[in-house]
This record gives sequence, structure tokens and C-alpha cells, in this order.
Amino acid sequence: MTRRIAIIGYPLKHSISPRFQQAALDFYKLDVRYEAWERAPSQLAEAVDHLRLPDCLGANVTIPHKEAMLSLVDETDEKARRIGAINTVVKDPVKLTGYNTDAPGFLQALGAEKFDIRGKRALLLGAGGVARAVVYALVDGGAASLVLLNRTPERAHALASAVREDASLSGQTVAVSVSPWEERLQGNLLNTCQLIVNCTSIGMKHSPDEGRSPLDGALIPKGALVFDLVYNPVDTPLLVAAKRAGAKTLGGLAMLVYQGALSFELWTGKKAPLDVIFKAAREALNG
Ligand code: NAP
Repeated sequence: MTRRIAIIGYPLKHSISPRFQQAALDFYKLDVRYEAWERAPSQLAEAVDHLRLPDCLGANVTIPHKEAMLSLVDETDEKARRIGAINTVVKDPVKLTGYNTDAPGFLQALGAEKFDIRGKRALLLGAGGVARAVVYALVDGGAASLVLLNRTPERAHALASAVREDASLSGQTVAVSVSPWEERLQGNLLNTCQLIVNCTSIGMKHSPDEGRSPLDGALIPKGALVFDLVYNPVDTPLLVAAKRAGAKTLGGLAMLVYQGALSFELWTGKKAPLDVIFKAAREALNG
């Protein structure tokens, strides 16, 4: 019997996960098909029922379902519960368990760049779904302080409060502050940070903010690593500006690949073929 793994999201037409996940499954000659299930929020519960069919092994979960999935699975891994979002569901043998591989995928991408977050100060732009995973990853990675900026300040404050509470419960010492969104255009603030992460969709292809950078290139500190989670286009306006400023840069493709590789390992129990996945992901973006 051909088995199935799905990605559930809405909309899904720009997702490249089907391309690189299928390449990884084919690398091992597994009789598994990776399918795109474009489902609106009102269809999510039905999609989860479908996952319970004998031929389904699990799923990736993406915008806008990552939070709603928490109440639909049978069990949630501790990390996903802390983050408040599920991006991977594994069925074993009939029980659905939710995981979050965005946070470890982010840390793996940083690690591959030989960037050690321990004791460092990071600035995050955005407070949406992926920012939540990034903030928890940075706390677990040992960041000394985090400053959050978001267009809608209430979301940044809510995220900061949740992270402070979580950190104090787990005995981690990290200073978390919120600054006004306009302060991203202040060199003084940027200069205090060794890592700057764009967790907004500004610069993303096919979005209203395509072609835009969230930062003024002239103010980007030379000594910082600028990590843009946007992966399409590969060279985002922010990364182009950061390179021009002399900063180190990292694009979102690495995190996308590492989170996908971790999901693959959860479903299959096999080591993800990273070279195959990177190649298929790059081809999908270029084609
Ligand atoms: P989300 O939950 O919808 O959050 C979007 C964030 O972007 C919010 O903070 C929002 O601010 C902000 N934003 C959107 N348009 C803006 C604008 N014009 N000006 C200022 N802020 C704006 O989305 P998400 O899931 O966090 O994803 C965010 C980005 O990360 C997307 O581009 C996505 O493709 C990328 N991503 C990459 C990976 C990866 O593996 N590389 C993984 C997940 C996501 P408000 O709160 O004010 O609305």
C-alpha cells in the first residue's frame, strides 16, 4: 500500500515542501507520496480525521493552522506545547502526536553558520507564528537578551510576557524587552545586537511587501549576522542591503530545509538526505 504524508495549509500554492520532501522520500525509494492538502480553517478538523486513515503517516502543518492543530492531535510534544504551535504531526501507530521542528531547525541553521547564540543579544522583527518558535529557540540556545519589535505592539508584548514566564519556570535567565516598531530605523538600537532576525513577511515574493526591506541598509551594523526567514526570493531586499553594509547574512532556506529534515526523520526514522533536500528546494525556488 502506498502511504501518504500531507502538508496542510491555506493557501498552499507557493509551498516548496512537497518538492523537497518527495525528493527525500524517493532517495530512500520509500513507497510514500507527499501531498498538498489546501484546507481552509473550517476544513481543518476533517483533514485531521483524514490523517487517521491507515495509509497516512503524518503531516506538516503551516499557515494558518499551526496553533489550531494543538487542540486536534492526541498528544503534544513538550517543545510544541511551550511554543504554542505544531508544524509536524506523526501518527504512531494510530495516535497523532504534534511536534514543532521550526525551533530546532532555526538553531541548526545558525549552528551551520558557526554562529553561537550563547551570551548574545538578538533583535527580532515580527511577533507572528514563526517569531514564537524563534524566540523559544533563542532562549533555549542561551541568548542573553532579546528585543522584540512588531508593527502591532500588543503581539510583541504578549510574546515577551509568555517567554519571560516560560524562562523563569525553566530557570533560564534571559532579558526580554519590547521596543517600538519605528525603532528598527534607529542605528543605536541595532548596534547593540549581534543577531538580527526578520520574522515578518516583508520582502516575500507574491506578498504586498515584495521588494521591500524592513531595515534601512545604511543602519545595519557590520558586525551583526542578519538572518532573514523569508526564503523566496533567496536574495531578499534585506539580505542584499545587509551584504552591502558588510554584515554576515543568512537566508530562510536553511531553516526551511532543516525543519523539513527533522520532520522527515520523525515520520520515517531515517536520516534526512540533506544534500538531496537542499538541491530539490533550490530547484523548486528557481523553477
Ligand atoms: P504570521 O504569523 O502571519 O506573522 C507575520 C508577521 O509579519 C507579523 O509579525 C506581522 O506583523 C508582520 N508583518 C506582515 N506584514 C507587515 C508589514 N507590512 N509591516 C510590518 N510588519 C508586517 O506569519 P509567520 O508564519 O510568522 O511567517 C512570517 C514569515 O516567515 C513569512 O514570510 C514566512 O514565509 C517566513 N517563514 C519562514 C520559515 C523558514 O523556515 N524559513 C518558517 C516559517 C515562516 P503584525 O503582527 O503587525 O501583523
